Amino acid sequence: MSVKWGLIGASTIARQFMINAIRARGDGEIVAVMSADPERATAFAREHGIPHGVSTLDALLGAGIDAVYISTTNELHLEQALAAIDAGKHVLCEKPLALTSADARRMVTAAKAAGVVLGTNHHLRNAGAHRAMRTAIAGGRIGRPIAARVFHAVYLPEHLQGWRITRPDAGGGAVLDITVHDADTLRFVLNEDPVEVSAFTQSAGMASGQGLEDGAMCLWRFGSGLIAQSHEGFTTKYAGTGFEVHGTEGSLIATGVMTQKPVGSVLLRTAKGEEELAFDREDLYTRSVRKFHAALAGQGRPAATGEDGVWSLASAEAALLSAKSGRAVSIDAELGSAQ
Ligand code: NDP
Repeated sequence: MSVKWGLIGASTIARQFMINAIRARGDGEIVAVMSADPERATAFAREHGIPHGVSTLDALLGAGIDAVYISTTNELHLEQALAAIDAGKHVLCEKPLALTSADARRMVTAAKAAGVVLGTNHHLRNAGAHRAMRTAIAGGRIGRPIAARVFHAVYLPEHLQGWRITRPDAGGGAVLDITVHDADTLRFVLNEDPVEVSAFTQSAGMASGQGLEDGAMCLWRFGSGLIAQSHEGFTTKYAGTGFEVHGTEGSLIATGVMTQKPVGSVLLRTAKGEEELAFDREDLYTRSVRKFHAALAGQGRPAATGEDGVWSLASAEAALLSAKSGRAVSIDAELGSAQ
């Protein structure tokens, strides 16, 4: 059976990755796309061979769909997700799920009550590289993990230099854009939740919206005592990305893996020497949709659940509060709040 999708948002991420991902395996079709602008809706639908381009949520939700993919700007996710859930549709929502973790928690609660599936489109945990790292750690290959480092400061391409750097009301800024991914990837690879974060943010010349940051460095503490650092940014053209985990018996050093494509390498270094870990190269977004489709069929859960989205947002929220207050902030995703 083919899953019938409605796209909420005529966005870049839909255009670049998600339309292909939904269609990749022949078990998903896109019935309609919604844009707030009727002309954009029609043009986007035509460009991508989508039967209906609509400009209201009611029209989209009434188009005979099973699921929605939400990729509008961040301030719109909550209302659109709740409306879709209310209409009995499954929801795959972009990160951050909402502007606050308390609102994200509302989405999770509503989806549960309605008996629909809610997933968060954290693509990085779908990367073979990160799954290989998680498996190696779980298998004891680096002993007891002690520390991690995430290098995820990039250069925001010119065509995306819009709301992310000008609109705090839309959930702009590097923390809600990238730190959420890093928090999720750390949780996934380490299979552990962060308990506290201390962060500095900066405006290095790109972000112009009031109070918006275009770079951040975060220090994370996990329950086991593991500490981690992450660097997120929009302004570094030549930095490259990476993810390292260092344990008592070895280190995992992944290069070029904090990205949208199934690329990069993972090196395991121990007393025995160095070993390049093999991993599958399935498209990250195709895997996200594949797992979501399976969850609709009652097989497992989405790659990142709604709860995972609450966790990543609570973590990012705590990082923002830390940067503002100048103190370490504890992370409590159960309560959906940072203190
Ligand atoms: P875009 O800026 O491309 O799109 C966001 C909204 O802006 C669209 O919904 C659209 O509104 C409007 N818009 C887009 N292009 C134009 C245009 N040319 N003229 C006027 N309006 C336009 O956002 P992204 O695709 O970069 O991000 C969307 C969401 O996806 C965000 O939540 C972001 O955090 C997330 N994201 C996730 C990624 C991941 O890998 N998981 C990667 C990138 C983004 P309308 O629909 O009303 O037409």
